[in-house]
Amino acid sequence: MSAHASMDAARIAGLAQAGADVRVEVVAQTGSTNADLLARAPGLAGPLLLVAEHQTAGRGRAGRSWLSEPGNSLTFSLAWRIDGGPARLTGLPLAIGTALAETLARLGQPVALKWPNDVLKDGDKLAGILVETTAAPDGATWAVIGVGLNLVMPDELEARIGRPVAAMPWLARMDRDALLAALLDGLAGALRAFERGGFAAFSARWNGLHAYQGRPVAILDRGAVLHEGLAAGVDDAGRLLLDTDAGRIAIVAGDVSLRPRET
Ligand code: ATP
Repeated sequence: MSAHASMDAARIAGLAQAGADVRVEVVAQTGSTNADLLARAPGLAGPLLLVAEHQTAGRGRAGRSWLSEPGNSLTFSLAWRIDGGPARLTGLPLAIGTALAETLARLGQPVALKWPNDVLKDGDKLAGILVETTAAPDGATWAVIGVGLNLVMPDELEARIGRPVAAMPWLARMDRDALLAALLDGLAGALRAFERGGFAAFSARWNGLHAYQGRPVAILDRGAVLHEGLAAGVDDAGRLLLDTDAGRIAIVAGDVSLRPRET
């Protein structure tokens, strides 16, 4: 555990620009910021950013877990209300990945995207995104967008995760509140663009950041190979286009995972 100054909600909110109208809360510890916001969303008056200094039961897709240590990572969730039903959120996790990658690039840290919703640095996972939803009483949908971003990755944590993962020590040296404000601005700007134009406003940008463009990949469902082919980017609905022996197919994210194949 490394010593670090705690984050300051008022300061994050004060530094934010595009996200200036988002309420910010910082808690010392919680199980899962996504679980907390999903429970609170129906009663929220507007968007809310919940930052946990320490998240003890972080979640990934399909019941997987996200591991982190206080001071060495960012764990936060943003609750955002979107007009219409859940179908309006098609492609949102990929739009969020695009926004994170573009924000990190602006901070001098280029990254790439792995379909559907991982941010990679030098081929290893730097950040994970988990979008969950709950209905608002008026028929709108609350999107709860969870992000875990590694700043420093101690060897023992990497060993517990059980695969090589990436970190960003350069960002660890940055003012934590300013870093959160920059990420909030990127997400708020992206969410407004998404509300106007859906994922179509992001697909070309996502493809420009794609880690495996033209490369052989496999699509797995709980470890079993469903498809193999060359990754050809995403379409305007955020589906992965895969060039297989039988032609081009489009894959919906669901719970499947992508792995690069050895060439
Ligand atoms: P995959 O990474 O297999 O494609 P996924 O994209 O669905 O699956 P998520 O559900 O987003 O993965 O994230 C959970 C997974 O991320 C865990 O199963 C674990 O392998 C990995 N993981 C957990 N903690 C971290 C971390 N701090 N940094 C990087 N990877 C992590």
